[in-house]
Amino acid sequence: MSDDRARVVIVGGGVAGASIAYHLTKMGWDDVLLIDRSELTSGSTFHSAGLVGQLRSSVSLTKMMMYGVELYRRLARETGVDPSWHEVGSLRLASSRERIEELQRLAGWGQTFGLPLRIIATDEAVGLWPLFDPAGVEGAAYLPTDGYLDPTNLTMALTEGAKRRGARVWTGTRVTGIDVERGRVTGVRFAERDPVETDVVVNAAGMYANQIGALVGIEVPVIPFAHQYLLTKPIDGVRAEMPTIRDPDRLVYFRPEAGGGLVAGGYERDPAPWNWQEGPPIDFNNTLLEEDWDRFEPLANGAFSLVPAMREAEIVRMINGPEAFTPDGEFILGESSVRGFFVATGFCAHGIAGAGGVGKVMAEWIVHGEPELDAWTMDIRRFGPHYRARGYALARAVEIYATYYDIHYPNEERQAGRPLKTAPTYERLHALGAAFGEKAGWERPNWFEVNAAERFEPLRPRGWAGRHWSTAIATEHTATRERAGLFDESSFAKIEIWGDGACAFLQRICANDVDRGVGAVVYTQMLNARGGIECDLTVTRLGSTRFRIITGTAFGTHDLAWITKQLGETDDIRIADVTGSFACFGVWGPSARAILERVTSADLSNEAFSYMSAKEIVVGDVPCLAARVTYVGELGWELYPSIEFGRSLWDALVEAGEPHGMLPAGYRAIDSLRLEKGYRAWGSDITPEDTPLEAGLSFAVDLDKDFLGRAALKRQMEAGLSRRLRSVVLADPRAMCQGNEPVFANGRVVSRVTSGGLGYTLGASIALAYLPSELAEAGTSLSVEVFGERVDAIVADDPLYDPKGERIRA
Ligand SMILES: Cc1cc2nc3c(=O)[nH]c(=O)nc-3n(C[C@H](O)[C@H](O)[C@H](O)COP(=O)(O)OP(=O)(O)OC[C@H]3O[C@@H](n4cnc5c(N)ncnc54)[C@H](O)[C@@H]3O)c2cc1C
Repeated sequence: MSDDRARVVIVGGGVAGASIAYHLTKMGWDDVLLIDRSELTSGSTFHSAGLVGQLRSSVSLTKMMMYGVELYRRLARETGVDPSWHEVGSLRLASSRERIEELQRLAGWGQTFGLPLRIIATDEAVGLWPLFDPAGVEGAAYLPTDGYLDPTNLTMALTEGAKRRGARVWTGTRVTGIDVERGRVTGVRFAERDPVETDVVVNAAGMYANQIGALVGIEVPVIPFAHQYLLTKPIDGVRAEMPTIRDPDRLVYFRPEAGGGLVAGGYERDPAPWNWQEGPPIDFNNTLLEEDWDRFEPLANGAFSLVPAMREAEIVRMINGPEAFTPDGEFILGESSVRGFFVATGFCAHGIAGAGGVGKVMAEWIVHGEPELDAWTMDIRRFGPHYRARGYALARAVEIYATYYDIHYPNEERQAGRPLKTAPTYERLHALGAAFGEKAGWERPNWFEVNAAERFEPLRPRGWAGRHWSTAIATEHTATRERAGLFDESSFAKIEIWGDGACAFLQRICANDVDRGVGAVVYTQMLNARGGIECDLTVTRLGSTRFRIITGTAFGTHDLAWITKQLGETDDIRIADVTGSFACFGVWGPSARAILERVTSADLSNEAFSYMSAKEIVVGDVPCLAARVTYVGELGWELYPSIEFGRSLWDALVEAGEPHGMLPAGYRAIDSLRLEKGYRAWGSDITPEDTPLEAGLSFAVDLDKDFLGRAALKRQMEAGLSRRLRSVVLADPRAMCQGNEPVFANGRVVSRVTSGGLGYTLGASIALAYLPSELAEAGTSLSVEVFGERVDAIVADDPLYDPKGERIRA
């Protein structure tokens, strides 16, 4: 190996960089160069509290954490360096009824992973952790396989593993430049030594990651926050083998110290961003911030009230260290828009727990082009360009940090940094009492208060699910099924692809045949090499060499990046995100044709305007592209005017719809309508881990042509499907699933819900879940655990509503 070339250069010798080096070498890449401007662990890693908890907000992240524990158990044996893994378990206390419900929900979810999490009585918790005051504590969740370790030793063990397989480690080496040619990384420059050529750079620079990103012109929206904990001298009764313990209501966590002291930390309500604008100083290594006792006071009070012995304990020291947080509290992983430039940062005080999984996922991403599990919620591509505004990223990150220990109810909306992006109808929607939600920075109506109707109150979902809910959702749903609904979907992401090679390119990356006549709208997925669904969208042929893609509001950046990544050197194609150029309104329902005919002279008959076709027409005084498609399962059109016509078109449609009883309707009604129809949602029902065959989408796959992922689908067909996505109907129509609830058959967990909700036409609670093929037959009896209660359920005939699709072709 020469000093002027490496297959991959990892910038940052903290726990993340070390783990990525470990896993890359494990996957056979031995020419790995790990560098740090100072010493290993001298960023955030050295001052970490070292707690490792596994149950997290998403399926993939939890799987990553579980993998981490497996790895930490065996590292000492494997590398000869002991990370001091203590598998002592963890307790999460509940000091209110609502917390118990939260824990029950977590426990249900935990079962679907095989995590041995159980809810225990307060007495049992005191038996495990005798120092806490049980007054007001109603119970706890106990996970025996959680634990803690020494973060520096973990980093050293991972580095040792990497070195044994050939990795080189250069400390005292500061990156000052990264060379990029034609959108691709070619080399790295340093302050202290000659440059190194490489095709792959991994930015694992922790809270400094935005500075490293700036070297290639990309924004990495990490915000450094000061994070504190204190360490006590030995306290009577503390044993090193006691579990870690969290009390979210008191905002605190504890872990025992080997010598008999306690570590106590938490999440303050008034977070302290640090150098968030310009980034940390370039010589900030092996350094802590000044102790901030004032800010720690609420945590200290929480600690004293939970563990009275803390009052008398002698404090050895307070650790105040900065760490990289993110605007949504999720990690930032994956390949950026610069090819070969990967990012792994933003661990939000969970980088030690996450390191094992992060290393594995990143190594897979680098070696195979994509990770094996669905990493969308952590993918750097989830951030749109608006995250280049540091003030916005800061506001979002502050909100996440300050509410970290709060109970987050289903369908809760975040408030920071709003409103940011608005449709031309915004004032109109406001006047109708729109309950706005936010997606990718866009304000979108969830429902309209003007539609609230007392008669639907008996349908209010039970428990938590009934909190962020309105009878207006049921009204809007019903109006759409019976007459018509008008939906503002201007936030839909829109991507145009044009050029001589556009058709051939799309044929290569779409599973469906998009080479159809001008005006054809094709529903398709784009697959990875394993046949997993990377994108789920429609492709409309606007001209012989021009196509428009419509995808979900939150998926535009992701899909654009996926598509761009598939471009070959010789593809002569242009691709542009045109989301902001067009508004979009959906007019759906049995009266949709009659309504539109009042404002257009275009022929909307089945003969002239068939299902899944699009045309330029004029509606009112507005020219627009009309596409006969639906995500709600009714006759109707999506209208795409140029953005400046948006409000006029909305007004024309409202006026035309009035005599027909059309109502403005929001996204929550769409969700309920699409569930009845069995339409899948990307990110929950269908992900990069699921193939179209498993997801019941074979109708959108054309195996007669070649496309990325086809070979994997063929193999899967030959082997037979082991699981299928099916609709399940619950016996209690008000037991509403939110996703992730465990599904049982014959007393054992067989699946988890991918998405769920109430179908107001069917009067049923519907859930989607991947079921083992032997349990996927319609009529099979199951049960679903909703907030700790088992509810009988039955596998339904798919789709539940309008199975022959007669209404959409009416
Ligand atoms: C007080 C506190 C308590 C915590 N407690 C826990 C806990 O209990 N459990 C848990 O899981 N997590 C915890 N964390 C979080 C955890 O410590 C971090 O998530 C983790 O250490 C981040 O590791 P990293 O490798 O991403 O970054 P770092 O450890 O910060 O590593 C980044 C490295 O990049 C290097 N670098 C930067 N710029 C350059 C350059 N130009 N050239 C070369 N090298 C460069 C730096 O020198 C640094 O060493 C805690 C954090 C804090 C602050």
